[in-house]
Amino acid sequence: MLITELKPRETITSLVDGKKIFIINCIGCKEVHFPEKEIEELEKELSSSGNVTGILTTDYICNPDNMKLRLEKHAGEIEAADAVLVFSCGVGVQTIASYLEEKAVYAGCDTCRLPGFQGVTPLEYKCDQCGECYLNLTGGICPITACSKSLVNGQCGGSKDGMCEVDGSMECGWERIYRRLKEIGRLDVLKCPTQVRNFATDDEVSAE
Ligand code: SF4
Ligand code: SF4
Repeated sequence: MLITELKPRETITSLVDGKKIFIINCIGCKEVHFPEKEIEELEKELSSSGNVTGILTTDYICNPDNMKLRLEKHAGEIEAADAVLVFSCGVGVQTIASYLEEKAVYAGCDTCRLPGFQGVTPLEYKCDQCGECYLNLTGGICPITACSKSLVNGQCGGSKDGMCEVDGSMECGWERIYRRLKEIGRLDVLKCPTQVRNFATDDEVSAE
């Protein structure tokens, strides 16, 4: 179970400004909390600009087998887009980013913590429901779960031959993030000022 909240409108519109976009909505876990109405309104607004190449609304985009087939049906619309905007939890966005390796994939939602079962989560992608999703700055790879120290501002400097200094059996998450950003031509995001996490988000949700 999880809670997804729409990112601030200005964050989303600045991400997609001037770009052709394909939109994916995941309604798999909406019985808990999915901001469906707000997303519908935003999509109408984005569509009126003529920059939306297509919309796919489906459930459990974290199911990798079905998702491949569903994406293939929209291959032309995805190809025509500069970026794919995904409204889902962090696992869903990571699943889509792994299929569309050469396309920029943006998260439209933040995922907030709620104990319990989460969708059809494939084991290779993890979301710690941190309340402030960083996938738009990290090429669709979660820095909270892919880095042993959950660093959000880059590599710790301890990796050896590309492997993590804390867990030598796993690849350094920030080396993966660097490679992915290079592949999609977004190394510029690493030049942005230090990101300061909004820890209030989680507290506010748990206090409700
Ligand atoms: S940054 Fe990672 S843990 Fe946080 S919401 Fe995004 S995918 Fe989940
Ligand atoms: S080596 Fe890489 S994955 Fe490991 S803690 Fe440092 S930055 Fe994170």
